[in-house]
Amino acid sequence: MSNREPIVVGSIAAAPGERATGLVQVHLGGEHVAVLPIAIIHGARPGPRVAVTAGIHGAEYVSIAALREVVLGLDPAQVSGSVVAVLTANPSAFAARSIYVNPMDHLNLNRQFPGDPAGSPSQRLAHWLTTHVIAGSDVFVDMHCGDMNEALVSFAGIENTGDAAVDARSRALADAYGLRYLLIGPSPGTTTTAAAALGISAVLGEVGGQGRWPAEDVALHAAGFRRLLKAAGVVETAPDQPWHQSQVLPYESWMRATATGYWHPAVEVGQAVAAGTSVGEVRDAFGAVLERPAAPVDGVVIFLVTSLAMNAGDPLLALAGEEPPK
Ligand SMILES: [Zn+2]
Repeated sequence: MSNREPIVVGSIAAAPGERATGLVQVHLGGEHVAVLPIAIIHGARPGPRVAVTAGIHGAEYVSIAALREVVLGLDPAQVSGSVVAVLTANPSAFAARSIYVNPMDHLNLNRQFPGDPAGSPSQRLAHWLTTHVIAGSDVFVDMHCGDMNEALVSFAGIENTGDAAVDARSRALADAYGLRYLLIGPSPGTTTTAAAALGISAVLGEVGGQGRWPAEDVALHAAGFRRLLKAAGVVETAPDQPWHQSQVLPYESWMRATATGYWHPAVEVGQAVAAGTSVGEVRDAFGAVLERPAAPVDGVVIFLVTSLAMNAGDPLLALAGEEPPK
């Protein structure tokens, strides 16, 4: 439960009943790492501290738009506990319209957690977010979206930490989010794994993609996050809809290209695919087929790369299913 002292994050602070917003300079080891737009909503009443990030991947616009809408709409007088929100967590990637990576070091920020205070810019940023935002919270939420080159069907993700109370709270919060699917499993190097290691209930939320932020996707993400805040006890009201009874898919498998060329998917997001089904072709510049990958397992296509450009080693899509691979 939050105490009644001011909440301080970097250079901004909010006393109980106050909101503070500002651009926080992140310097570590004498190096400039980032300037982060952060909002602190410190409720008038005691309650849990919720930390939330969006834009860990800079071109995931639905998450950035939805978080800003919900957090800046909170009235501290109506809040129990607090919300600490990093509205765009990877500003260099946002400015560069970069997919996957931070252009400062070409690393995927969401593979660097819990980070390293003496590492590359992304590793330092991950360390700062872990120590200044995630640590000390009761609940952590990381809002994502398909990247500029990805379509996806909405899903939440949680981990099993082995602590029954932490895991039950994560599950209840994910159920409140109400996205189409719920994936349960470890994802090394991510924000939610860092939170789990600190004993904090954590939820990943994914809605939309392809560099767009249509109103219906923003509304879905915003309503889900607002319901999560209600389930956590931070706010008293939230939209009932749109809400899904999430289907649990505990087994996730990513397919990656082995050839560089032109990607012609043969499946769509949300489609159920049987093991052995061709999911598309990578062709060369003249149309000759370089590879025709087949689904290794039965599963639902939860995300799909939609760019024509494809590089060896890049993800093609991910399947999630109810049964382990045969
Ligand atoms: Zn992401």
